[in-house]
Parts: sequence; structure tokens; C-alpha cells
Amino acid sequence: MQELEIPKEILSKYRSLIRYCSDKVNVEEKKELKKAFETAFVAHKNIKRKSGEPYILHPLSVAKIAAKEIGLGALAIKCALLHDVVEDSEIKLKEIENLFGKKVSNIIDGLTKISDLMDSANSIQAENFRKMLLTLSDDVNVILIKLADRLDNMRTLEHLEDRKRKKIASETLYIYAPLAHRLGLYSIKTELEDLSLKYTETEKYFEISRKLNETKNEREKYIKHFLKPIKSKIKKEGFSVSIKGRPKSIFSIRKKMSKQQINFEEVFDKFAIRIITNSSESNEKSDCWKIYSIVTDYYKPNPDRLRDWISTPKTNGYESLHTTVMGPGGHWVEVQIRSERMDQIAEKGLAAHWLYKNNKKDKKEDNLNKWINNIRELLESPEEDAVDFLNEFKLNLYSKEIFVFTPNGELITLPKDSTALDFAFSIHTELGKKCLGTKVNGKLVPISHKLKSGDQIEIISSEKQRPKENWLDFVITSKAKNKIKGSLNEGKKIIAEEGKEVLKRKLKHLKIPFTEKRINELQAYFKLQDSQELFYKIGTGKINNPDLKKYVESRESWYGFFKSKLTRKNNKSEKKESINNSDNVKKILRFGDEKNELEYKIASCCNPIPGDDVFGFITIEDGIKVHSYNCPNSIRLKTNFSYRTIEANWINVDDLEFSAILEIKGIDSTGVVNKITKIISTDMSVEMESINFKSKNGFFEGIVDIMVKNKIHIKKLIDRLKKIEGIKKVHRKLKS
Ligand code: MN
Repeated sequence: MQELEIPKEILSKYRSLIRYCSDKVNVEEKKELKKAFETAFVAHKNIKRKSGEPYILHPLSVAKIAAKEIGLGALAIKCALLHDVVEDSEIKLKEIENLFGKKVSNIIDGLTKISDLMDSANSIQAENFRKMLLTLSDDVNVILIKLADRLDNMRTLEHLEDRKRKKIASETLYIYAPLAHRLGLYSIKTELEDLSLKYTETEKYFEISRKLNETKNEREKYIKHFLKPIKSKIKKEGFSVSIKGRPKSIFSIRKKMSKQQINFEEVFDKFAIRIITNSSESNEKSDCWKIYSIVTDYYKPNPDRLRDWISTPKTNGYESLHTTVMGPGGHWVEVQIRSERMDQIAEKGLAAHWLYKNNKKDKKEDNLNKWINNIRELLESPEEDAVDFLNEFKLNLYSKEIFVFTPNGELITLPKDSTALDFAFSIHTELGKKCLGTKVNGKLVPISHKLKSGDQIEIISSEKQRPKENWLDFVITSKAKNKIKGSLNEGKKIIAEEGKEVLKRKLKHLKIPFTEKRINELQAYFKLQDSQELFYKIGTGKINNPDLKKYVESRESWYGFFKSKLTRKNNKSEKKESINNSDNVKKILRFGDEKNELEYKIASCCNPIPGDDVFGFITIEDGIKVHSYNCPNSIRLKTNFSYRTIEANWINVDDLEFSAILEIKGIDSTGVVNKITKIISTDMSVEMESINFKSKNGFFEGIVDIMVKNKIHIKKLIDRLKKIEGIKKVHRKLKS
């Protein structure tokens, strides 16, 4: 690399970073850091942040946060310096790998992916979040650097436009602050929360911070008064302590105020202090208890409020002794007593814990790795801890989904309770259809095996495999269901085709002509829905020769009497069934982009028929209601509840008829009603269900209930009717 001209300001910031981590990186690592810094400098050259500063200052700040505030080592600092390089410049991941090795390029890749996920505007936060969490299992450094990145972005958020600020701030509150909390990075968590509040509830933030300032003196005075006798006693006993008024974050005050519906003053009815003793690790526990004893010599403790997190640390590593005592003037004061080491853990989390464990320099990195592994275990373990963890992230809201992987590590989201076969269909329809068996995490399992998050699935397929009827019993995704049904239907169609030919031959044998009428009769006799069903049953042999013979016998005895009745009744009842709101309505609409077959009802306010432009409206109690775009309710529904509407499309339904209402107005003249009914029933062969004409002052108004196939059908009819002399108006009426 040629000699770079790096501005002083930038160079001095870099040097301060190096100074800071000089005790935890060796000479070799320092060289690497320099290389990373120079690579980043070149990559971000001429790029400015929104604040107008050179961009390189951002990765430098992130690296410093990683080193100083999180306590990470050389690898993470290097990656922090490089974290935006691939995203923002021409430099490719491959080059990073060549320059810095696989480990670094993997981490950069993870960071870039998270950014992509977070930035894609139309994806939901929660979805991104989950994926982000899963990236963790690759390398926890990714998440820690991402936190550092976010912290610097939050610190410089004022330079962005308001809308963007709010988005980033709420994302921080929802995703990053809880993550920092879980990882034990308390001061980062607090800062993220406060900064988020500043941009999401600006007024409240400044109000609280103003009041904090205003009451500061008063509070400090009280604490001073409270501490006076204890302090000298502690000194006398030979302890070296520092005492802090416990800072309450603006965010936590805000939370308390809104959660308990109290005002600022009420939040501060309790004072809080922290006594930190500079004790060796071997003495710290007894020292803390000794100090406890001193405090309670002067002030009476509330026995219910004693918490010993020293004997039993919290799962995230927190150690401290808490008590609440009655101070002067009858005020409760919460006292936290802990050692320097415990305080570091409380502020910096487990990173500090591991670093404290062993102070030898070369051991530090090692301990850091242990810590990182520890977090990973925490996140991956199926035990209570992990459940707790998920709850903390409100993931229970999303527990309806699981996340599984393809053999090459691609993440697939499926509904909870999905089976291996659902997975196969989600990858590819053909893979689903030909799915013979599956391997989950390397083990052979049946295709009905229920998957759980984190499973890696391999599908074993066979060209000979075909979808089976019983597959429908265990798949749960609509894609798998539809594809299986579709494919079964296809198979059914072929069988039905064959069955039709078989039936033709058999009827010929029985000397019965193969006519539509006869087919209707057979269909009615065997109580089947349609002729396809009949052919299919013949094709599969479910209806066999003896069955057909029985039909012939019954036909011979009844035919003469019931011929007309049987067929007419059957036709009629089928039609009735197909009308609108009957439960047995055929599914002639498909919904959404995926053309899903869903339960629905036709809205009675507009009664749409095939061909009408329609949409589904998801009602709360009654499932999907299908409305016409012309429906008087449609605009209201579309504008107020657009998120509850779903695209609906008619499928081909030539064999069904639908009820519709015609309104006809015109000049009353002899024979006009006859002309109308002739056109409807004779010329157009449209069935009339009812007809009602009223005449007044030489004009008439008629309402005709008819059965039509679709919109085109009714349009033709209307056009014909309009041609009758004296007819002024013919139109389809929506509401009866
Ligand atoms: Mn960044």
C-alpha cells in the first residue's frame, strides 16, 4: 500500500484508539489494526457522514466502543474498523478475506447482512430481528460490534431527519437495548434507552431531564446527610470505598411514571445509593456484609427488601447486596453494596467478569472467548435460560413461527408445527411432490416429522414418488396443502378421464345410451357432487359392475314414475346449493397473491357474481366476506380497513349459477311483461326465481330474481332487455 496522507484529526483519533487497547493487543495485532484502519480509510475516503464529518470517524468510534465500553479484543476491534467497508465501498468481501483472513470476512459478512436486513424498508422489524439473532450462532462478535455500531449511530442521531431518527430510535428500543441488557452490557443498554427516548418522546425526555437537574441539589443534600455517620464509621473500620448516588436513567423514570401512573416526584420518594468497596476477590463477600452491618447499625432495614445477589448471582452474572433502610425524616433509602469487581460486571456485563477472572495478559483473549462462548450457549440452550431470554425479547409474540435451515445454511421461516414435508414444499413444489424421506440434523426421520427451530433439513427425493392422499393429514402450510391437493386432483382427472371411457363401455353393454341426462341420473343415484366424481369413482373401481346393475334395476322400476322429478329435483337442489351463503358453497374464489383457497361468504349487501370485481374483507367474527367493488360499503372498508382486505379472484365456474336481481323500469303497455319474460326465459334461457311488476300512472317497475352464470351473462341479458320498446331502465340491483 502506498503512503497515505491521513488528516491529523483522523490520525489522532486512531492513535487514541491504539493507546487505549495497547495493553490487550500484541505487536502483530497492532500491525493488523493499522492495516484495517488504512483499508477503511481508503474505502471511506471522500465520504462524509450526515454531520459533515469524514466517514472514517464512525468506524473509529465504533472500534473504540468495542474496545473500551464492551471490552472486546483485537479481532473485534479490527472488524469494527472494517464494518462498513463492504457495504459502502467497492471493496468486496473476497478482498477482505484475502487481506485479513476468513474469520474477519465472516464477521464482516454477518454485519453487512444485518445492515441489509435492517435497511430493507418493507420488511418487518421482528422478522429482521429473528434473523439477526440467528446470525449469532455464527459469531457473537457480529452482534457485539453491531451494538457498538448502533450506539455510535444513536449518539450521532441528531444529524438525521426526524422520520429516520424516530425509526432508528424505536428499533433501538425494541431490539438493541434488550439485547445489550441480556448480554449484561448495562451502561450501553441505559444509554441506548435514554437516547431512544430522546427521539421517540422528545418532550417527556427533556421534561424529566430538566426536573432531574432541578432536584439534583436537594437530593444530593439529603444523601450527604444520610451518609455522614456511616462514612466515618466505614473509614474507621479501614475500608476504602467510593459512594455513588445511584443514577436513575431518564428512560427508567419515564417507564416507572407511565407504568405506575405516577408523577416525577413520586418516582423519587425513594433515594438510592451505591457503596463500592475496593476489596480483594477473597475478601469482597465478607467486606460487603461488614459494610451492610455498619449501615444497619445506623438505619433500620426493611427485612423484606434484603437481596443477596452475592451468594447467588443472577444468571447474567450480576452480583450485589441490596437493602432498603429508613433514613432521616422517614425516607426509604435503597443501599447497594458491592465490590469494585462486581460493579464492573454490573456496568460492563460478563465481559468484565471474564477479564477479571485472570489478569495475565495472554489469558485475557482466552477469557474473552470463553465469555463469547458463554453467551452463545445462553442463546442456544433450550433450557429455561433461553426461554427466559426469548420472553424477554417478546418473542412469544412471534412464537407462531420456527426457523430452520437448508443443508447449505439458508434460513427458512415456517409456521410452528410444520413438518419436514412442509419444508420440502416451501423449498420447491417438485421437491415436495417427490419427497420420499428426510434427514433432520443428520438423522433419518419420516416426512411427517415435526420441525423445531434450528433444525437443518435435507430432503431425500425420488422420481417415482407421487403425492399421497394421507399427506394432507399432517402438512400444515397452505402451500403444501394446495400443491398436494392440486396434484391429487390432477391424478384424479386422469383417472376420471379413464373412468369416463370405462363408463361409456359399461353403459353400452347395459344398453343404456351415454347422454348428459343419464349421467345426471347416475350422479344423483350415487349421491355424488358432479360428473367428475362419478367418472373418478368408476375409474378407481369404487363404483363397480354390481353397483351399476343395481342402478339399472332401480331405474327400471322407478323410471316411469319419477323420471322427471328425479332429474329436475336434483338439478334444482344442486343449483340452490350453489347459491351464495349456503355452507356447501363451492369454492369459486381464490384469495391473495398466492391464490389460496379459503373459507368465505358472499356479502349480502352487494351479492357479487363471477365476473364482478371483488375483494375479500376479513371480518372479526364471520371470516372472509366477499364484496363487490361497486358495493356501497366498499369505499369505507377499503379506506378505513385496507389492511383487512384481501385480493379475491373468481375461478372458472361455468357449471354453476348465481342469483341476481334485475330492476326494470319503463312505460306500461300491453304485453310488455310478456316480452320481458320471453327474452329472459325463452331467448336467453335464464331461469327466473320470482317476478314482481308494479304499475303506476302509466309507468311500471319490475323486480326479477334470476339465476345467471356470471357478469357477462347478465350483461347480455340486460342489453337484450333494453332493446324492448318502452323500456327506460334495466339494471342489476345490489340489495334486495
Ligand atoms: Mn456503521
